[in-house]
Amino acid sequence: MTTRTLLVFFLLAVAGGFSRTASAQTGDLDPRIVKLVAAVSEERLGAILKKLESFETRSSLSSTTSTTRGIGAARQWILDEMKSYSAKLQVSFDTYQVAPQGRITRPVEMRNVMAMLPGRSPRRIYVSGHYDTVARPGGQGASNAGGPSGDPDAAAAPPADPNAPLDNLAPGVNDDGSGTALTIELARIFSQSGIDFDATLVFMCHVGEEQGLMGARLHAQKAVAEKIPIEAVLNNDIVGNDRGGNGIVDGATIRVYAEGPEDSPSRELARFVQRWGGRYVPSHKVRPMSRPDRFGRGGDHSAYNQLGFTAVGFRESRENFTRQHDVRDTFEGISLPYLAQNARVNAAAAATLALAPPPPGVLSDRNQPMISRAPSGYDANLKWNPAPGAAAYRIFWREAWGPDWQHEVLVGNVTALLLPNMQIDDYVFGVAAVDAAGHESFVTAYVTPPRANVPVRTGQ
Ligand SMILES: [Zn+2]
Repeated sequence: MTTRTLLVFFLLAVAGGFSRTASAQTGDLDPRIVKLVAAVSEERLGAILKKLESFETRSSLSSTTSTTRGIGAARQWILDEMKSYSAKLQVSFDTYQVAPQGRITRPVEMRNVMAMLPGRSPRRIYVSGHYDTVARPGGQGASNAGGPSGDPDAAAAPPADPNAPLDNLAPGVNDDGSGTALTIELARIFSQSGIDFDATLVFMCHVGEEQGLMGARLHAQKAVAEKIPIEAVLNNDIVGNDRGGNGIVDGATIRVYAEGPEDSPSRELARFVQRWGGRYVPSHKVRPMSRPDRFGRGGDHSAYNQLGFTAVGFRESRENFTRQHDVRDTFEGISLPYLAQNARVNAAAAATLALAPPPPGVLSDRNQPMISRAPSGYDANLKWNPAPGAAAYRIFWREAWGPDWQHEVLVGNVTALLLPNMQIDDYVFGVAAVDAAGHESFVTAYVTPPRANVPVRTGQ
């Protein structure tokens, strides 16, 4: 009894002491990240978009022989552009030979363009978009009017000659020139920031998204096979237009889609983007969405999710479907101030993640969440595994019915916390790792593991 009381008292004292430190630090932004976020340039974003538009099509099945038109010219320009930013950036094609399947009508070489900014550790944070485009004859407006689903991702009619390059006009300035320009611009500002990041940052321009997330799926497959530690993917697809096709304008918010279940790492990443994007870019509201993507539609972040990686999808708040997958997806449909705000939110989140320690693990050797009611039977007893580089940990909790964290406390460099008389059945708990300068990881939540269904045996 005496031991227990001492333990409780000691841990509460620790928690209380660091809690005061936390409130002093919470408002403090890292001036280097403030500067990085401010380096996002509307002018640069505009110049990149105009250049991407100049290739007329970036279809993954378009010609590769021209130096000015088609996907061959486009990928070479993206590679050269990112190479020009800094000697620290390792820029390369991530190349695959893809057999005919689904929307791929002939054997084709597909190349993601990736720029890697090596950090002190191999764990990787991705910022991505897809540079390939598609436009359907007649445009999406016609399909929407005639089709039963109005689904801009619906399959296209097969071409007359499957071996001919698909060279019809497909400017794709918003889908997904916007995500591509954002990614390229962040490659520039991160590589020129002079900041020494802990995580390795990867600025990835995917290919083949319009054929079924091909470039992202291929890269994610490779990451699994080669055990590449991808910690988080911030994917941007259609993030440059603030005017809905219905006339409603919203240039002040961005949607961030995250697959479930409720406290999956991707959901925690979305909460993280809301928290840190909101602090560094308070003029832009992050709207986390508790679903994999928009209704019936897909994007590259889901390719990473399917192979077990943590990934979210940024989407503009008000879409104009008549411009998507259509010859009308031109520069006129872009709001540069809006795209720049979305780039700033990405920059704040990626920089904070890459400076912070990795999120701590909360599972035991036997894969059980390390949360219990001990010692009284009515307490919240939390344990976690140390995260490399952590100087402290921040504990979060909320009522078990509710999407956003309600309470937080910063504790020191310990791996356990006892909260007396907090019933673990009533709250969701999570823990983030924090470095000495206050950079915080996303949260790892304590989640009840799913129970296997064992059918009842009947009879003798
Ligand atoms: Zn897209």
